[in-house]
Amino acid sequence: LSDRLTSTFKNLRTKGRLSEADIDATVREIRRALLDADVAVSVVRAFTASVRERALSAEVSGALNPAQQVVKIVNEELVGILGGATRQLRLAKNPPTVIMLAGLQGAGKTTLAGKLALHLRSQGHTPLLVAADLQRPNAVTQLGVVAERAGVPVFAPHPGVASEYEAPTGDPVWVAREGVATARSRHHDVVIVDTAGRLGVDAELMQQAADIRDAIEPDETIFVIDAMIGQDAVATAQAFLDGVGFSGVVLSKLDGDARGGAALSVASVTGRPILFASTGEKLTDFEVFHPDRMASRILDMGDVLTLIEQAERAFDADQAEAMASKLASGEGFTLEDFLVQMQQLKQMGSMKKMLGMLPGMGQMREALENFDEREVDRIEAIVRSMTPAERRTPKIINGSRRARIAKGSGTTTTDVNGLLERFTAAQKMMAQMSKGGGMPGMPGMPG
Ligand code: GDP
Ligand code: MG
Repeated sequence: LSDRLTSTFKNLRTKGRLSEADIDATVREIRRALLDADVAVSVVRAFTASVRERALSAEVSGALNPAQQVVKIVNEELVGILGGATRQLRLAKNPPTVIMLAGLQGAGKTTLAGKLALHLRSQGHTPLLVAADLQRPNAVTQLGVVAERAGVPVFAPHPGVASEYEAPTGDPVWVAREGVATARSRHHDVVIVDTAGRLGVDAELMQQAADIRDAIEPDETIFVIDAMIGQDAVATAQAFLDGVGFSGVVLSKLDGDARGGAALSVASVTGRPILFASTGEKLTDFEVFHPDRMASRILDMGDVLTLIEQAERAFDADQAEAMASKLASGEGFTLEDFLVQMQQLKQMGSMKKMLGMLPGMGQMREALENFDEREVDRIEAIVRSMTPAERRTPKIINGSRRARIAKGSGTTTTDVNGLLERFTAAQKMMAQMSKGGGMPGMPGMPG
């Protein structure tokens, strides 16, 4: 077990460049993760090619093993494609800010209208909703219900909808234009225009959306896309980009099984930022979109950046350099060193969970199944109960010293013996490694 661990960690501080084999192995895992997350095949292909290229020219970072380094690059690339930093809604200098919603039928536009309205209202804005979806009989009524829940007025051409505003019936372009004019004259600082969806990409309805766009000249045209749409995301987004154009994207239904591949596909193909995520049917199920969190979700690796930060902290470069020169100088590996290494492992936090997040780390994961963090506390207590002389020269620890140490550390002599045996094994391995010119690994892992 220790041998396997050691060889895994041996790569940790190799200087130079990542090997092509390491990169290819990790890129393969990444490709699988992306396809599992329903990222479009064409996007996956382009993405992995650019990651591979970047990884090949990357300097090896001392603190990360090859898999971690590739993961770090992948994460950076994903975050970049997803827009980098969170992008805020662009508010118009001269109100009202005109926001138009576009997307397939059932994408979640009308629901989003209510969510956005509630969100903006809570920030002190005074949004007006405009029901320019006249395609389905109940679409206007639905927006009326949503507006009421959000506590905002609606401009709705429907006798059954309680609206403070008179609205014309029949022509959605007309309704949209009048809605925006009403927002302006009644001093609403934001106006959100809901439009008709289409089940598939349909030329007539696409033209209608384009006409609405021309009539109201939106500050933001938001393309709403169901995150569950999977591989169809690219074609749908492209059709809307060509037919209507949009400045931002909202991903809906991210509360379901969707793993967010649509986010990457759409962002990658259209180059438009994702502004918000819709995560349920309630109006409060709505979040500002965070590219970094989505990147992690797509790779299903938890919070990759946290993971990498943990690794960087745990393997403090100076500490390792010091250790290496100490070993090289023949001073040998002491119980103190052993303790420091165990503590570093513990510092890495939920190591098991972490490694579960990384691709290509099956071996480590298996090894760590047997790693008990409480064990490190026990080891620490035992080492602390030793005198400095005992720590430097464990050979002097005889029977009575063992009993004293066990008592002082609240353990048993069996525990003390176990630790000393493990330490001796680790010490041997360190001696071998320093002879072989290898860098210190992580010997002495329990199990
Ligand atoms: P539209 O046709 O684009 O206006 O879509 P709707 O807003 O009418 O939404 C279609 C269906 O999806 C409705 O049943 C909504 O309740 C539901 N829906 C919308 N957004 C979400 C979401 O983020 N999560 C879930 N689970 N359901 C949603
Ligand atoms: Mg609708």
